Order: sequence, then structure tokens, then C-alpha cells
Amino acid sequence: MAEPTYTIAGHQITAPPLEPALYLVATPIGNLRDITIRALETLAACDVLACEDTRITRRLLDRYGIAAKPIAYHEHNAREAGPRLLAALADGRSVALVSDAGTPLISDPGYRLGLEARQAGHAIVPIPGPSAVLAALAASSLPTDDFRFIGFLPAKDKARCDRLTALRAEPTTLIAFESPHRLAQSLKAIEKAMGADRTVCVARELTKRFETVTTGTAEELSSRFANETIKGEIVLLIAPAEVGGGQATSADVDALLTDLLSHMPAGKAAREAAQMTGLARADLYARILARKDRDG
Ligand code: SAM
Repeated sequence: MAEPTYTIAGHQITAPPLEPALYLVATPIGNLRDITIRALETLAACDVLACEDTRITRRLLDRYGIAAKPIAYHEHNAREAGPRLLAALADGRSVALVSDAGTPLISDPGYRLGLEARQAGHAIVPIPGPSAVLAALAASSLPTDDFRFIGFLPAKDKARCDRLTALRAEPTTLIAFESPHRLAQSLKAIEKAMGADRTVCVARELTKRFETVTTGTAEELSSRFANETIKGEIVLLIAPAEVGGGQATSADVDALLTDLLSHMPAGKAAREAAQMTGLARADLYARILARKDRDG
């Protein structure tokens, strides 16, 4: 059998053989030159290449002269395709998974496959590279030391508002994927739920020709994007709530406690909230108990 190769700038390069494993391969989010050498080697040398849309992945493979024949693995065929990929791993073959763009599993198919492969004892190898989440965060000028990725905001107005209200006291940078036709409503909802002064960033078409990164207050961006026809792919980022320095409002503290209590016991929630807000732990604990009494 011919050796697997890939081609860069007219140079054909042989890809080294791969150990059997599930390889999670990041691919470009726009600019096809944003791909690592290891990703090219893996795409060229894997025994099985699974992707969301074979036409999209074919374009990438053609660009780098890779002969692999991708097969489809997406949310609609995961039930049938997943077991076939697991069987290939069980046969000692190397399986590479890519999504249409960016890092697979990040709001993209592959979570269940990765989990089942690990449970079956197969090696999982990440081949890191582009992801819209980190590219947007880096370009946003918002704090990067503590951030939270929240996937896509809910599409329905009420659910979106509820989600943003629950997150209003979150002391970390929030990162969401957004569709262009919902951007204006989401910015309005942020303004309403988190305040007109909250800093937000809209990162559009990253790595592509019409890349733009716009940062401003919720009020500014909300009125700006209300009058624009918005196209392209978008990451929406929200600056952390200013809960430190005694600036937290009572509603902020309540929202923070609600969020913390949804995934930790009262004592720990009071301690974490104290660290985040600078308020006394005992007062916060008393507040939690009072809420419990009130709400039954
Ligand atoms: N797994 C991918 C990743 O790691 O980047 C994300 C997949 S998710 C289904 C697709 C969403 O990512 C888009 O709707 C958009 O919000 C965001 N996105 C992808 N490419 C982008 C780009 N070039 N610029 C801005 N946002 C992008």
C-alpha cells in the first residue's frame, strides 16, 4: 500500500505511522492555513477518518493533498456510526475524528464517542489546534484568567433572559456561541439582564476575510447591531460581573448564591461567595438559611 502523505506548498511529505487510538483533531475555523503539522500527519495516516460533513472535510483534505476517504459521524447517525468506530478501535485501528471547524466535541459531535472509547479502554489522543472559543477570548481584551464557556445561548427569548439573569453575578468572562440573526436580541437581553454598562465583545468571522472584533458596553453594541444586517459566525463574550470591592448589589449576591447552590452545599456556597464578593461568610450563610426558610 502507498505510504500516507500530505502536501504543503508543493512538497509531498510522508506521514509517520499512528498508534491505534481515537485522535480528536482540531481543524481550521476559517483560514485553511491554520492547521498543525500533527493534524495533517494524523489525517493522512489514520485508518479511519470520521467527520461531520464529508464535503467540508474533503475540501481540507484536497487542500493538503491527503487521499483519506472520510466517513460521516454526526448527531443524526451517531447511533449507527459510533459502534462502527468503536469496533474499528477494538480491531486495533487508528480512528481520527474531526468536526466541520475547530475542535471536535466543543459544541460539536464526539462527546459520547470519546466517553465510550475511554470506557472500552482505548487511548484518546487530542491533536490541539483552533477553537473559536479561545481565539475570541484572546482577541476580546476581556480578562482571560478565569472564564466560562456557556455554549449557545437559548434561542427562545424567555429562556435566554432567564439564563442571562442567572449568570449576571458570574465573576468570570462568559463566552457564548451566537447565531447572526439572534445577535441583536441577545445584546438587548444582556443589557436588560446584566446592565447597560456591562462590557461585551462581538467576535465575528475570526481568521476569515471579514474578521471583526468589537468591544463596548452592552448598550453601545446593542444599538449598533440593532441597525446592521449581521452575517457570519459569531462568538459573544461578556465581561465578568464586578462583584468584588463591595460593589455587588443585593440582586447580584442572590443570583450568585442561586448559581452556587445549584451545584454545591450551603457551607461551601457561602465560602465561595465570600471569596468572590468580599462579604462576610457568616452573613452569606445566614442569607442562604433565610432563603431556605422563606422558600421552604
Ligand atoms: N468546535 C468548534 C470550535 O472549537 O470552534 C465550534 C463549533 S460550533 C457548532 C460553531 C460556532 O462556533 C459558530 O456558530 C460560531 O458561534 C462559532 N464559530 C466557529 N467559527 C467561527 C469563526 N471563524 N468566527 C467566529 N465564531 C466562530
